[in-house]
Amino acid sequence: MAQLSDDCFAFSGPLLPVDQLERIIHERIAPVAEVERVRLAEARGRTLARDIEAPIDLPPFDNSAVDGYAVRHADLNAQADTAVAIAERITAGRASAGPLLAGTAIRIFTGAPMPDGADTVFMQEDVQVDGDTAILPPGLKPGANRRLAGEDVQAGSVALPAGRRLSVADVALAAALGLTELPVRRRIRVALFSTGDELAEPGEALSRAQLYDANRTLLSGLIEALGAEVTDLGILRDDPASLAPALKRAAEGHDVVLTSGGVSAGEADHVRDAVEAVGRLVFWRVAIKPGRPVAMGVIPAGRPDASAAFVGLPGNPAAAFVTFVRVVRPLLMRLSGANPPVLLALPVRAAFAYRKKEGRREYVRVALRRADDGVIEALRHRQEGAGVITSLTETDGLVELAENVTTVERGSTVAFLSYASLVS
Ligand code: AMP
Ligand code: MG
Repeated sequence: MAQLSDDCFAFSGPLLPVDQLERIIHERIAPVAEVERVRLAEARGRTLARDIEAPIDLPPFDNSAVDGYAVRHADLNAQADTAVAIAERITAGRASAGPLLAGTAIRIFTGAPMPDGADTVFMQEDVQVDGDTAILPPGLKPGANRRLAGEDVQAGSVALPAGRRLSVADVALAAALGLTELPVRRRIRVALFSTGDELAEPGEALSRAQLYDANRTLLSGLIEALGAEVTDLGILRDDPASLAPALKRAAEGHDVVLTSGGVSAGEADHVRDAVEAVGRLVFWRVAIKPGRPVAMGVIPAGRPDASAAFVGLPGNPAAAFVTFVRVVRPLLMRLSGANPPVLLALPVRAAFAYRKKEGRREYVRVALRRADDGVIEALRHRQEGAGVITSLTETDGLVELAENVTTVERGSTVAFLSYASLVS
């Protein structure tokens, strides 16, 4: 279980800036302590618990980068062709029988170890062969086409740092180093509810006032994409008597209890009261659009030292999405011991004009296209309502507008965050 202080989410101020939100999470939440060793096949997406030092050099030995002829550069004529005898032939996986003798070349193939005494490799395309003699042209630099032991990773250096969320390439690097298992933090466990009297399960018949629950599918996909485990606890009705015990039960065995809906100030919004009945609640008015209200809290989970973080997201799916990526994602990453997410927005041209209030960060759902002049531009979705799910499906990402921005001119450069960069 997570270990959270009661007031870890405390914040006093009218509107919480996104930067400060990330700082609160980083400073006040500790990663889960449990570490497990997983086989490489299971390591992708997990968070490395310790620095991994390279047990060997990579590549492990000097070798040829091309198919060609290994020589000693000092044997070469600087101005004219050099004729040398071809002494031996070595392919990848074989070492030369002896050292390179002066005035000879060794036929070598990509990946084969450099013979002792050889320092340079001619590409076969550049060499004329006449029987057992190779004619080498002048001008090749010493050391050309030779890969040095350790030039990729040096033995003893940190090949993969603690806190790294392991990509496919990271796991391949571990394999290249000969490792079979990696130490990772255990997966974060998230209990997920939707709330609302109006929600129906897909597959059920809809009554006149109902709509299907989209958020559980959305949020469980986002949670799993971050390498966490989801317990899907279904739909909670807007009923104060059943909400509180359900939240309390959900806190057992989970690090995070995540809900959507029911956190605004409406008469049917009971989630905040329910959290207060069983734990501690802090209400964050995040300076973000869409998605301003986010309820944060801590729910004790039986044992004295264990508790679950509570996050109540707004019910509108686009607002739930934006607050997930800006609030829940950093929280899950922090709990899993991952380094803070660095989001590098890409510059694109705005194909729209926009006005916004100063003092809050806004995310505009946009699709990208290549304009006639070749520049990539961002088109704003025609429906910006936070409940419009097609504003997520028909777009490629979010344009992020900083707190101090008030207007976006058509044709100006704006910062684009792809969904791909936000959901993994
Ligand atoms: P709430 O935050 O509960 O006031 O809900 C705001 C809006 O989001 C309402 O129109 C809800 O019907 C809608 N909504 C809430 N939860 C979901 C959900 N799980 N799936 C789809 N729409 C939802
Ligand atoms: Mg509701």
